Amino acid sequence: MARKITRKDADLEVILILFALFAVSVFLNFLYNLILENPIVSTLIAISIIGLIVFFYINQKSKPKKTIAKSYVSRQQNSINKIHKLSTIQPKKLCLKLLADLEWKRFEILCSLYFTEKGYQANLTQKGADGGVDIELCKNKTLQAVVQCKHYKAKIGVKLIRELLGVMHDRDGETPKGIFITSGEFTSEAHNLANRQNIQLISGSELLARIKMLPQKSQDNILFAITKGDYKTPSCPSCDIKMISRLSKKDGKSFWGCKNFPKCKQTFKNV
Ligand SMILES: [Zn+2]
Repeated sequence: MARKITRKDADLEVILILFALFAVSVFLNFLYNLILENPIVSTLIAISIIGLIVFFYINQKSKPKKTIAKSYVSRQQNSINKIHKLSTIQPKKLCLKLLADLEWKRFEILCSLYFTEKGYQANLTQKGADGGVDIELCKNKTLQAVVQCKHYKAKIGVKLIRELLGVMHDRDGETPKGIFITSGEFTSEAHNLANRQNIQLISGSELLARIKMLPQKSQDNILFAITKGDYKTPSCPSCDIKMISRLSKKDGKSFWGCKNFPKCKQTFKNV
């Protein structure tokens, strides 16, 4: 906690400054007299002062700029990035583990591809990771439904279903139906609310089951599209570029940060 500066402290500070000024003036006076009386001594003092300045300058320059703690952090960070790159090997089949590994954007792409293979026109919107609606589903240029995709480890509760309802209502009855897809599951309260409204809930396992009903070629196309390249590292919702793993200087824990930091301050937990 910061200590308050009291009046007593301020007075003491003034006295100390005055004393320091007095000491400096006495020293300068002494030096002036010495130079007048003895030019050899004054030359020696000047040489030693210059020598000391040069010594400190060289010493400062030869010091390594990075501290041990800093270089340790960057080494740790590099190894995390390397491990992450190595772990992105193309998987052979769609399964719950792969769903869990997908970054949020690839999950949205997976959902939109599923609807495309089902014959819909699935338009991915630019709302980002936490935006309102992620996909608009059309058939014959007519809006059929709005889709919210959420790559989530925890169960989806009523709060997020209500958000989708809000988006549907904001469209003034233009939206006939809402669909909520998650990589995980929904709570029973979320199911109850969705049943009372025109919202369809699709869990991760149900999405997989639906994809497995598609022709094999469609399944292969989806798998290839969503696992091409690095499919695990999250994308920045604002900048649409892959984020990088960083280590927190506060607690040493790793997190995802945007490459455009400090311009973009978007972060995600790295769990
Ligand atoms: Zn960004």
